[in-house]
Formats: sequence, structure tokens, C-alpha cells
Amino acid sequence: MKQARSEVLSAAKAMLAIVAIAFVAELLITQALSYLGVEQLATHALFIDAIVLALVIAPPIYWLVLSPIHREYEKRLKAEGEAEEMSRVAITDPLTHIMNRRGITVGLLDAMAQAERYRTPLTVAMADIDHFKEINDTYGHEAGDRVLKDVASILSDALRMPDKVGRYGGEEFLIVLPHTSLVQGRKIVERIRASVSKWNFDLGTKKIRLTISIGVCQFKSGEDLEQLMSHADKALYEAKKGGRNLVVAAKNR
Ligand code: GH3
Ligand code: MG
Ligand code: MG
Repeated sequence: MKQARSEVLSAAKAMLAIVAIAFVAELLITQALSYLGVEQLATHALFIDAIVLALVIAPPIYWLVLSPIHREYEKRLKAEGEAEEMSRVAITDPLTHIMNRRGITVGLLDAMAQAERYRTPLTVAMADIDHFKEINDTYGHEAGDRVLKDVASILSDALRMPDKVGRYGGEEFLIVLPHTSLVQGRKIVERIRASVSKWNFDLGTKKIRLTISIGVCQFKSGEDLEQLMSHADKALYEAKKGGRNLVVAAKNR
């Protein structure tokens, strides 16, 4: 408030100064034109006003009013861009560039709220790379990172809006399928499982094959995040127990 008042005061002072300078300039120009013997122009008010406007009033107005507004606008634009970038970074996994655990959890909570409100089906799936530790142990951590990136790309390429995928943990990916029943969701993740199993993962010196296991379950009205995730986890555990490279749906729900 105090700052706004002092800004208004400075602007008023500046405008007064401009008017005073313009007045003096007008007098001086008139005098100069009379001195030079160009009487006709000296009495031509419009001509003198135009000179005063162009030389005396316009530059300080630009400097005092337009330039600070422009600078302020640019500053705000930059700050908004930085804030947007910061929130994007906060929900993005730096390795795979898909959403991180925080991002996909927010996405899932949102999808749960929508499913609850509009009574639409929602299916979630937890995918985990099989024997991933062996890949790290055999080919090194960098190769493991490369595999994680490729798996993330396969998953995101296989999904369409409004489906979402995020890296939930080390080699675990959470898939959120709004407006999708368990039967439909199972088909989608089965397709994903099959395409990962056929993929040739290029490790630079070598190409390898790998598989993923997936636990899938449909959201039930009234369920909270923890309950839903624990059903998906249990189904994933069953897929691992069943021999891996499998999709298992949560039972008895
Ligand atoms: P399972 O089939 O039962 O899932 O076996 P697994 O070997 O995939 O599972 P485990 O939990 O034993 O090993 C997971 C490995 O994932 C161990 C850990 O070092 C590795 N890992 C986690 N995060 C990263 C990462 O960001 N980069 C790499 N390269 N490895 C990671
Ligand atoms: Mg694993
Ligand atoms: Mg795991």
C-alpha cells in the first residue's frame, strides 16, 4: 500500500516535471524560430506541439511509464515460467521423464475422485520389471538405467489420454486407466506385457530381452488410495509367484 502510494507520487511528480519541461521547451522553440526568422513556423502552434511531443514528452513517457510496465510484464512472465517449470520438475522422474511417484499419485487421486463422483470405472495396474537386479549385476547400472528409460517409453507410447503412467519406485510403474473396466484394463496391460517381452533392449554392445509382471485391479467406490494400492500390489505379487511375465487381476473384490 505504502509502496503503491509512493509510486503514484513519483509518477505525479514526473508528469509535472514533463509538463513544466514541455512548457519551457515550447517557449524556447518559439523563441528560436523567431530568432531564426521563421516567423510563420514560430506561430504555427501545431508544428511546435509536434516537435515538443516528439522530442520532449514522448521519450520520458516511454522511459517513465511504458518501459517499467514492459519490464514488469517480462519479469512476471519469467517468474510464471519458472514456477511452472518448478512444478513440472517436482512431478517428473529425471531419468525416464515420465511422472514420478508424487505425480502419478496425484493423478490417481484425481482419477479416483472423478470415478467416485461420476460413477465411472477406473482400473489401475502395477508393473514391475522381472529380475531387474540381474540386469544391473550383469550389464552394470548404466545399462539398467537404459532399460528403465525404454520400459517407460514403451508404457507411455502404449497409453492414450486420459491414461497415465508414472515411475512409482525403482523398477515399478503405476498405470492409471480412467473410464476403463477391469476387463478392458486387463486387455490393455496384457498388450503392454506382450510388447515388452518382444522388445529388443539395446544396451550398446548387446541386445537383450526382458519381461514385466503386472498386477491389475478395478477401483471400488468408497476405497481409499492405500486399499486400492494394496490390492494392485497383491495382484502383482501373485503374478511374480505365478512365474513372472504375467498379468494377474485382483480377486474376490
Ligand atoms: P523381481 O522379478 O522379483 O521383481 O526381481 P528384481 O530383481 O526385479 O527385484 P529386486 O527388488 O530384487 O531388485 C530391484 C533392483 O532395481 C534393485 C535395484 O538396484 C534396482 N534399481 C532400483 N532403482 C534403480 C535405478 O534407478 N537404476 C538402476 N539401474 N537400477 C535400479
Ligand atoms: Mg522387479
Ligand atoms: Mg520391484
